[in-house]
Amino acid sequence: VDPDCLFCGIVAGTVAAHRVREDEWTLAFDDIVPQAPVHVLVIPRAHIRDITDLAADAATSTAVMAAIREVVLQLAVEDFRVVFNTGVQGGQHVFHVHAHVLAGRPFTWPPG
Ligand code: AMP
Ligand code: ZN
Repeated sequence: VDPDCLFCGIVAGTVAAHRVREDEWTLAFDDIVPQAPVHVLVIPRAHIRDITDLAADAATSTAVMAAIREVVLQLAVEDFRVVFNTGVQGGQHVFHVHAHVLAGRPFTWPPG
């Protein structure tokens, strides 16, 4: 737990969030500034900085991937986009790894 981390605060319950799904390893909650009709963030409970560090932890990686699948099943979305913004240039603002799960509208390519 990083006391300065916003998403550690959500895990701890000291920062409010609308929880969509949770298990022993992960938490999924609605993004506060949704960019699509469905915009859920899936995070490990553990404070892991980004997808590079997540990838080094096989058990937690698997748990996050499984949680993404469970969220899309739960929300009954078939077409969706999963984004891990990484680093400042990659658009990452919160340095507690999170998968953006976006659905409910068409998405364009290339991304902005
Ligand atoms: P990123 O820019 O990829 O690091 O994503 C951070 C995301 O966290 C953004 O989409 C924000 O809208 C979202 N966010 C920031 N604060 C909160 C919060 N308190 N609860 C839920 N989502 C948040
Ligand atoms: Zn954290």
